[in-house]
Amino acid sequence: MNETATRVYAEIDLDAVRENVRALRELAPRSELMAVVKANAYGHGAVACAEAAREAGATWLGTATPDEALALRAAGVGGRILCWLWTPGGPWQQAVEADVDVSVSAMWALDEVREAARAAGRTARVQLKADTGLGRGGCQPADWAELVGAAVAAQAEGTVRVTGLWSHFACADEPGHPSIAPQLAAFRDMLAHAEKEGLEPEVRHIANSPATLTLPESHFDLVRCGLAVYGVSPAPELGTPAQLGLRPAMALKASVALVKEVPAGHGVSYGHHYVTERETRLALIPAGYADGIPRHASGRGPVLLGGRIRHAVGRVAMDQFVVDIGPEDPVRPGDEVVIFGDPERGEPSAEDWARAAQTIAYEIVTRIGTRVPRVYRNGRTATAE
Ligand SMILES: *Cc1c(COP(=O)(O)O)cnc(C)c1O
Repeated sequence: MNETATRVYAEIDLDAVRENVRALRELAPRSELMAVVKANAYGHGAVACAEAAREAGATWLGTATPDEALALRAAGVGGRILCWLWTPGGPWQQAVEADVDVSVSAMWALDEVREAARAAGRTARVQLKADTGLGRGGCQPADWAELVGAAVAAQAEGTVRVTGLWSHFACADEPGHPSIAPQLAAFRDMLAHAEKEGLEPEVRHIANSPATLTLPESHFDLVRCGLAVYGVSPAPELGTPAQLGLRPAMALKASVALVKEVPAGHGVSYGHHYVTERETRLALIPAGYADGIPRHASGRGPVLLGGRIRHAVGRVAMDQFVVDIGPEDPVRPGDEVVIFGDPERGEPSAEDWARAAQTIAYEIVTRIGTRVPRVYRNGRTATAE
């Protein structure tokens, strides 16, 4: 692909993914690492990132939906895969046949997975998920004994093998938050009960990226890292990517589509929320909210253009937004604009856009749209998707 002729593209450096996985493994040296590649690897491309993470020593991959897990297998991705977001009637049998570990939070799910295992003529690998306080997925402590008992029985009948026991934090991105210690204590209690009943899981896990980065006692047998694998800081309070030993894998770049002079007093973009104060020049950036540029960052989102950080003026539209480059600047159509990338290179960060849009960096990278081509650097073979 000829990037200079490209309207907008997301450059994905797979070496950054590999380096980040290695850095995270060093932080959790006694644990395995699961690279979470749900939501198209947070917008970075699931298959390419899964393979890069595996090359760097991630022994597990994690997805939310079974379809995401099955798509990895269909692309030939090996290793262990856990998927956790199931609904009744889901593709349990395909998952069992594709050697995918499945998460179970409730009795209905265990019943469906046993039936699928019988139909497949295979033993399903199941991980029981505990709600230790998140209040979202997972089995409540009050229901844990029943679920564990049923899993022990299913294991005895041969339909199921319990490979993991796991949970998820509510506030790991706020180190010292008062919910963290009680969640860890509840997790230990729920593990102890399951092990007393005879379950011998391969992996016990609760740590996401922020817990991997800040809370060694949460590492157990495996850490589940998503955002940090892509080199983005889970929360500004935890530090910049570089301070965390990480490097952003994605740079969102575009080519300036138009540069023009306008008089003072000229309204810019829908609603005329910006009006030029002087005669100036406007640069048109051909990317908008259909590409994942948050409309909530209208008037604030930063870009690197012509060697300087500048800001979106006026509303971000579906396909384009505008930057006021001032009267003198030699910016020309076709010049590269970096919407976000690595702050160590002087580029705005995904965190900067998150602040501008009053959201989190997770959403900034994940929402980059399907209309934006991903261009891979440092793949085993050069690929464009
Ligand atoms: C998304 C997700 C993760 C990864 O979280 P990060 O903060 O991106 O590391 C881990 N576990 C579960 C259950 C998730 O849904």
